[in-house]
Amino acid sequence: MAAENPVLYLQAIERNYRQGENLLNILRGAELAVWSGQLVALVAPSGAGKSTLLHIAGLLERPDGGEVYINTQPTSALSEFERTRIRRLEMGFIYQAHHLLPELSAVENVMLPQMIRGLGKTAARTRAAELLSYLGLKERLTHRPAELSGGEQQRVAIARAVANAPRILLADEPTGNLDLRTADRVFEALTQLVRASGLAAVIATHNLELAERMDRQVTLREGQVVELKPGQPHH
Ligand code: ADP
Ligand code: MG
Repeated sequence: MAAENPVLYLQAIERNYRQGENLLNILRGAELAVWSGQLVALVAPSGAGKSTLLHIAGLLERPDGGEVYINTQPTSALSEFERTRIRRLEMGFIYQAHHLLPELSAVENVMLPQMIRGLGKTAARTRAAELLSYLGLKERLTHRPAELSGGEQQRVAIARAVANAPRILLADEPTGNLDLRTADRVFEALTQLVRASGLAAVIATHNLELAERMDRQVTLREGQVVELKPGQPHH
């Protein structure tokens, strides 16, 4: 595995925000490499920079220093057009709120990103139904978000995130709005899917019990990524 390149590599990432007179150094040389098939838990207190790190990894925000490599390709010198293309092809995002379109059914919400990418309606519907069934929502395909429970909504959001078969999944406290038991079930579905599809996943969470079940646990300390159980073989 050591010979294989990481799918995502954050190298010496710097990120500063200006707050009045002050410059907040949120990320100060953060390094993180994630390989295919790996689930990495990002566990750190609120305000530590988890969302910032995920936004930078997801090419939604540019760092002030350092480089983001996606499949060994450096991305900082790319145009917004190119970065958007990589984001569409290679990445899936899950947020704390599901952000599903309320007027669309579950299956339509999962079809949409596939059709934006150019897939035909029938093929998109087939894949959407397969994914939702895999996530235990076979009986909920035509329900609108308002007709689904919180856990079901978040499973639809997961299906939507992986609909275009990305290589990288970035999740920002995806179970943060759910009760513990529901969070557990959603998380189980998520991990199964990641392992089955060989995704590289970074999941920010406050739930230490869920974090323990991932392959690696990292935190942010003074703007740097720190491995919580160093020395453990990755994979
Ligand atoms: P976390 O996700 O770990 O809670 P964030 O990455 O959201 O942390 O934020 C890290 C720090 O950066 C916080 O102190 C936050 O207030 C600050 N911050 C985040 N985004 C901005 C921004 N756009 N402008 C100014 N400060 C920001
Ligand atoms: Mg956050």
